[in-house]
Amino acid sequence: MDKRTKFTLDEEEIPRYWYNIQADLPEPLPAALHPATGKPLKPEDLAPLFPMELIKQEVSTERWIEIPDEVRDIYRLWRPTTLYRAHRLEKALDTPAKIFYKYEGTSPPGSHKPNTAVAQAYYNKQEGVKRMVTETGAGQWGSALSFGGACFNLEIKVYMVKISYNQKPYRRIMMETWGAKCIPSPSSDTKAGRDMLAKDPDCPGSLGLAISEAVEDTVSHDDTHYAIGSVLNHVLLHQTVNGLEAKKLMEKANAYPDIIVGCIGGGSNFAGLYLPFVKDKLDGMKPSLRIINVEPASCPSVTKGPYAYDFGDEAGLAPIIKMFTLGHGFIPPPIHAGGLRYHGMAPIICHLCKLGFVEARAEHQLATFEAGVTFARTQGIISAPEPNHAIKVVIDEALKCKESGESKTILLAHSGHGHVDMAAYDAYLSGKLQDYEYPTEKIEEALAQLPKVG
Ligand SMILES: *Cc1c(COP(=O)(O)O)cnc(C)c1O
Repeated sequence: MDKRTKFTLDEEEIPRYWYNIQADLPEPLPAALHPATGKPLKPEDLAPLFPMELIKQEVSTERWIEIPDEVRDIYRLWRPTTLYRAHRLEKALDTPAKIFYKYEGTSPPGSHKPNTAVAQAYYNKQEGVKRMVTETGAGQWGSALSFGGACFNLEIKVYMVKISYNQKPYRRIMMETWGAKCIPSPSSDTKAGRDMLAKDPDCPGSLGLAISEAVEDTVSHDDTHYAIGSVLNHVLLHQTVNGLEAKKLMEKANAYPDIIVGCIGGGSNFAGLYLPFVKDKLDGMKPSLRIINVEPASCPSVTKGPYAYDFGDEAGLAPIIKMFTLGHGFIPPPIHAGGLRYHGMAPIICHLCKLGFVEARAEHQLATFEAGVTFARTQGIISAPEPNHAIKVVIDEALKCKESGESKTILLAHSGHGHVDMAAYDAYLSGKLQDYEYPTEKIEEALAQLPKVG
């Protein structure tokens, strides 16, 4: 029996290029539109928000984009990350399936997010930017950008969704330790925030609203750029460093996945892992490979939303993009997987879904924590609430293998640890955690507000 548990690469094997799926898509992505005019977005429209190098990456159709040495040198602090074989979970489930997981929880902030935060901070520094502003849901992205800012001596301000700000004080303290400023959103620092507070003083906040605040702050300061932790093409691009490592490591393990599973909030960690594998499907080499995107049942954009043009943010300041959406005004229920509370989804994922290359599934919160506890008691890792969604589906697929007797190879994208989410585990273990039904009415209301585009 093959007992090997960890598969690792040498530091020198950190990929030198990111993989850009836009070079290989059978049909190009639908154009992004300007939020004010509804006309196709031009690169210069994004210049107030992002450095030109990132804007180029956003629309590039070059297959390989070089990772700057300065970024690779910082990646060395935790990359390459390890691929594990989950022997103990397999045994507990008594399944013939082979379960692997690529674990991103060993980065300084504890998730995949610094893969792009460091790159974004680098390109901004190169362009002479002094200050970067962003939003954060669960605090993972805010802490990652704060770490990125510390790497390149940039001033960072983070608008943190209020429900998470209150539930997760340790994320704020991490941001402050790395030198950033973090405030709860909705805040009184922006018009978008003040308008919402006037409407609903108890508003728990949403990622869409926090994006509006960060964008507004950015365009009202000259020395400032915006950074986004997910959804956009350049963010998914940076995350492919993980998928490229995973491919090499699966080879080392003499395996190739039949099923790849991951959680999607804006889609960056999972797409980053699977895009290099999607290439094999596009090339016709692995037609049977299944890729399952897992989202929360209470915020089911891909499984329940229409594929439509919508604003990236609550206030309608961010570009209009074509995606599966629940409506930019939708405020998802306060589940603990704060990183999965976004009304839309990465256009690349939506496009691949529409073309039939990937599929999606939605899971309820309680079942995901049950799966996360099983994972912790077998593999040891206490996972963030977000990857627990994927673990739930991995366990289901492994149990199906047990029934059918098939020995499928399952690869899990494990996006991060849950060490600062212990209050959520406490709620689960003490029976206080609840499920939220699909909020039909609120979604219908939000969908009525989709922008009209020609
Ligand atoms: C932010 C986050 C997510 C969700 O974001 P994606 O862009 O969909 O990856 C998932 N897992 C963890 C640990 C996160 O921090």
